[in-house]
Amino acid sequence: MSDRLAHIDLAPDLAENIGSLHWFRGMLTMLGLGALALALWPDMSTASASAAMPDTPDVHGELRSQMIMPLALGGDSGRRMGPTAFVKPLKSAPERPQIELMATLAEDDSFSRMLRRAGVSASDIGDVSALVGGAMSLSEIEPGTQMDLILGRRPAPGAARPLDVLKFRARFDLELKVARNGADPETGQGGSLSLVRNFIRVDDTPLRVRGEVGSSLYRSMRAAGVPASVVQEYLRTLDNQIDLDREVRESDTFDIILSYRRAETGERQAGKLLYAGVDRDGKPRTQLMRWGEKGQFFEASGVGEQRRGLIQPVNGPISSRYGMRRHPILGYRRMHAGQDYRARSGTPIVAVSDGRVVGAGRMGGCGIAVRVNHGGGLETRSCHMSRMAVRRGEQVRRGQVIGYVGSTGLSTGPHLHFEMYRNGRAVNPASVRYVTRAALSGVELLKFKEQLTTLKLVEPGAALEDLTPKVEQVEEPAREIEKINSTKRVD
Ligand SMILES: [Zn+2]
Repeated sequence: MSDRLAHIDLAPDLAENIGSLHWFRGMLTMLGLGALALALWPDMSTASASAAMPDTPDVHGELRSQMIMPLALGGDSGRRMGPTAFVKPLKSAPERPQIELMATLAEDDSFSRMLRRAGVSASDIGDVSALVGGAMSLSEIEPGTQMDLILGRRPAPGAARPLDVLKFRARFDLELKVARNGADPETGQGGSLSLVRNFIRVDDTPLRVRGEVGSSLYRSMRAAGVPASVVQEYLRTLDNQIDLDREVRESDTFDIILSYRRAETGERQAGKLLYAGVDRDGKPRTQLMRWGEKGQFFEASGVGEQRRGLIQPVNGPISSRYGMRRHPILGYRRMHAGQDYRARSGTPIVAVSDGRVVGAGRMGGCGIAVRVNHGGGLETRSCHMSRMAVRRGEQVRRGQVIGYVGSTGLSTGPHLHFEMYRNGRAVNPASVRYVTRAALSGVELLKFKEQLTTLKLVEPGAALEDLTPKVEQVEEPAREIEKINSTKRVD
């Protein structure tokens, strides 16, 4: 059986034995298979997918409400856009029972104009002005002062709301409050305004700030929290006394005390400079304190600050001037090449300006003398000293004591013979303008030193958070008022 099947050639080569029975059977097989293939050919017509959501007008509207539709195309997207037919409009809108607002007194503004802007009625403005005017002058209120107002319920539609409360900080230590008392609890009408003065306790311990000078004195002080205006005052004050560029080192410590006020309600206010100092190695090097009505700064020794110009070499009247005169001891006329000051023995003689001691010791008829080169070709010599306070080669500062009045050398009695040389030639010391430095003495000096000691007892404060005057909101008991932000006015 298997042998016979093997002989049946189902797919003969149709190019061989054409016309034979074997060829015809192969031809028939091919045509039969072709017909079978054509009979089983699949249908190739298109098939459409069915919609996931039915496209009805309801569904369309739902989808449209959820998209963002440009205004130009109607902008009608969003659910529940308008009232339905069930909504009925009110005849009148209910008013807020009270309005809480804040008004600010502007520059070139008046108290009454500000209240009128806030919507206070003319009669209430008159009452409030009279009440506040009784406590302080209305023109004393600082521009920028913020006032909290509460306006009550209107007595009639269209009428002005009555002023219920007006509260403001009149001064740093005083809060004024005008409130309506005795009003009808039901309607809130009637009653009269009365003033309450609320004194705020203020601690005015001065503020002390210390810190290292570093690469920039200005920046170091600002970083320590000292207000810019006080830093400038400090630098200006010190500059009158010392050479800031040369005499202050990076490792020095600045020491500054300023007037400062802290209110119990939390506000702080920085005032003016009281003390300006520079310390080196823990010891004060320069100490200046404000003193007196003019607010001038004085050194710790009680001498007023002043750097420019020359100062008098000694405290005393001129007894003999520069020029030709009869010498009191030698008896003949000769040039008096200096100026004499009468002073008691032991009176300190100071350097008229910064300089270097170029001579110190006995100098013939001049007696014990000190010669100072002040730079710029100017030299001075102080004669007849009883004692010297400096040595040759030493740097002296303006006002520094270089010796004491005496009567050494050719002298008739204790006085200072003072000579001045410009480029080696004697000049009249009277031709030079001297600046007089205010100096404290007696009881005033004692008081000054006492205050300096007291002031320096102030402990340096920590870095300051904020020195700009700031009015903080004071917590108030809860009231049933709606706060409306939109009515807050900022002028
Ligand atoms: Zn003389």
